[in-house]
Amino acid sequence: MQSGGDHPGDEPREKCGIVGISLGDRPAARPLYYALYALQHRGQESAGIVTHDGFQQHSHVQRGLVGDAFEPDDLESLAGSTGIGHVRYPTAGSLDKSCAQPFSVSFKSGSLGLSHNGNLVNADEVREELAAAGHAFTSDGDTEVIAHDLARNLLEEDLVRAVKDTMNRIHGSYSLTITHDDTVLAVRDPMGNRPLCLGELEDGYVLTSESAAIDTLDGELVRDVRPGELVVLEPDGSGYDTYQLVENESTAHCFFEHVYFARPDSVIDGELVYEVRRELGRKLWEESGVESDVVMPVPDSGRAFASGYADAAAETTADGTPREDDEGIEFAEGLMKNRYVGRTFIMPTQDERERAVRLKLNPIRSTVEGKSVTIIDDSIVRGTTSTQLVELVREAGAEEVHLRIGAPPIIAPCYFGIDMATREELIASDQSTEDIRERVDADSLAYLSIDAVAEALHASRADLCLGCVTGEYPFDVEGEATDRPVDNPSAGAPAADD
Ligand code: AMP
Repeated sequence: MQSGGDHPGDEPREKCGIVGISLGDRPAARPLYYALYALQHRGQESAGIVTHDGFQQHSHVQRGLVGDAFEPDDLESLAGSTGIGHVRYPTAGSLDKSCAQPFSVSFKSGSLGLSHNGNLVNADEVREELAAAGHAFTSDGDTEVIAHDLARNLLEEDLVRAVKDTMNRIHGSYSLTITHDDTVLAVRDPMGNRPLCLGELEDGYVLTSESAAIDTLDGELVRDVRPGELVVLEPDGSGYDTYQLVENESTAHCFFEHVYFARPDSVIDGELVYEVRRELGRKLWEESGVESDVVMPVPDSGRAFASGYADAAAETTADGTPREDDEGIEFAEGLMKNRYVGRTFIMPTQDERERAVRLKLNPIRSTVEGKSVTIIDDSIVRGTTSTQLVELVREAGAEEVHLRIGAPPIIAPCYFGIDMATREELIASDQSTEDIRERVDADSLAYLSIDAVAEALHASRADLCLGCVTGEYPFDVEGEATDRPVDNPSAGAPAADD
C-alpha cells in the first residue's frame, strides 16, 4: 500500500485481497491462484503469489487480472506447499510495479513475503527511522516499511516477539498475510479494520480476506481472525497457533465492506454480507419507504438491498401499518448490466464516467414506462451513477423516479483501504440531501441512517469505522478528526495457543 501525498485525500488508497495457505505436501500455487480468483473483486490492478519450497522463495507478481497474470508455467515454477497471494485494486495514475504485491525480500535470517490490505498512518515516520538505520527502500509503499521493520526484529527475536514489536510500532489499518521462509502467518490490526479469516482445508489451512475464497477451495470457515491477533500456520499444514498480541477496548470494523466492497456470499466478522445487505434494505423501507409501482436494484450491488426493501414493503405500508393484502411493491430487474464494462469509478474524467454508466446500465422499457419507480443502490459517491440513472429511467418513460440508498451519505474520504474519492469529489461532502436530490433530478431521495447500519451489523457505533460517513476516524489522520479519545492499544503478553 502507498503512503505519502501532499495532503490527506491525495494519497492513493487501495482496497486489496490477501491470502496465505499452508498444505501437507501439495503445491500451494494452484489453490492460491483459485483463492485470488475468488478475491478478484477486491483488486484488479495486479496479482501476485509468493511461495516457499523449504529451501527458497519463489515469486510471481504481474499487472492485470488474476486470469491474465499467471501462465501455467508460472504456477509450475511457484514451488512449495506454503505461500501467500495478493490482488491489488487500481488507483488513479500509473502502476508503480514496485508497489505490486506480495512484497518479497531476503535478508540475513531468511526470506519474507508480505501481502497487505489496509493503510498505515505512520509509515513515513517508521520509514525515516529505518532509513536512518541503513535500510534501503525500493518502493514508497507502506508494505515495504512493515517488511523492513519485521526483518529487523527477526534478526534479534523469535517470530512471535518480532511480529508483536512490529505491531506496536506501526499504526493504522492492516490485515497481513506473511511468509517467513516456509511458515505462513497472518495478523489483523488491533482495531480489526479490514477483514481477515481462517479456514480449514482437507490437507491444510488458509488465511484470507473473505470466506468466499475458503468456499472456493472446498474448505470450512473456522472463524474471523481477532483484532490484534497473530495466527501462525504449521508449515506441514497440520495445524495452527494463535497469539493475542495486542488487546484493544474497541474495534473499528469497516462498515463499507458490508455495504459495497465484500462479496455477498462472504461471512465477515460473523455476519453473512448478503443478509446484512437485505437487512439494510428492510431498514431502508422502514425509515424512508415510498409507495411506488415498482422497485428495482442497480445491479449488482443494489440487489440484496432491493430484495430486503421489497420484502419489508410486502409486510407494511410506507407509514408502518401492516398491509391488508400482502402485495407490496413489485420487485423487478429493470436495469440490465453489461458485464463487460469495467468499473465506472476508475474512469479518469467525469465525461468518460458518465458515458460508462450508459454503456453499463440500460433500463427495460416495459418495467418502467408510465410507472412510478424506486431505484435502490448501495451508495452514492460522486453522484455520477445516480444522475445518469435517473435520466435514463425517465427517458425510458418513468413518471416518477425515487432513489433509496442503502448507506448514509458519504461525506469524507476513506484513508484505510477503500478507494473512494477525494473530499472535493464526494457529492455529499458539502451538499444536503435535498441539494443532491435536485442535482440528480429524482422525485425523492433518502439515505439510510448510521444507527440502522450499526443495528444491521449487530454492532455498536463505537465498534465500527464510520469515517466516511461521519468524518471522524478511528486512527489519527493529519488534518482530520478522530472519534477515539486515544489510539493507544495496550500491548498484551503472547497468550496461550488456541
Ligand atoms: P458514483 O457514481 O460516484 O456516485 O458511485 C456510486 C456507485 O459506485 C455505486 O453504485 C456503488 O455501487 C459504487 N461504489 C461505491 N463505492 C465504490 C468504491 N470505493 N469503488 C468503486 N465503486 C464504488
